[in-house]
Amino acid sequence: MKERFPFNRQDSAPVAGLCPPIYIVSPDAPMTGFCCSTTVWGTWTHWDTATKRSIACINDKKLCQGCLRQLPHRWKGFLHLYNPQFTREWFVELTPLADKSLKGATINQPSLRGLHLEFRREFRVKKSTILVACTGTWQGPGELPKPKEPEVSLARIFGLAERS
Ligand SMILES: [Zn+2]
Repeated sequence: MKERFPFNRQDSAPVAGLCPPIYIVSPDAPMTGFCCSTTVWGTWTHWDTATKRSIACINDKKLCQGCLRQLPHRWKGFLHLYNPQFTREWFVELTPLADKSLKGATINQPSLRGLHLEFRREFRVKKSTILVACTGTWQGPGELPKPKEPEVSLARIFGLAERS
């Protein structure tokens, strides 16, 4: 049946928080949040020197445009963070050095979940080293959101289709 008007219809409300945004740490202000993840979720990407953008590294090297073009590899890690004051969830993107700093700051912690983490740039310039500090633990009220993985958010950024 032909619709009378060109509405972009969806009768079920969108599921909130399924695909939180991914943020990098700003040089202007620290990022703080409670960690919902138990551990870092990491993946290889490529730096596309032509477009100056990151692209996914596909696990089948024969299908990976970045591997075929021999583009440089970049590791990226992600943590699911939560701010109860604004009931916001997001992923912070970690560089290898940020991951190292995180490991140093949480050396005695069996799990990252529930830790209050602060991420800031060593200097107020883009790409400056990200330093991580643990500044508390979750005391409630209630439970932290269940840990999410950044796969859906990343796939959207990279334009990857889900395997069927
Ligand atoms: Zn690759």
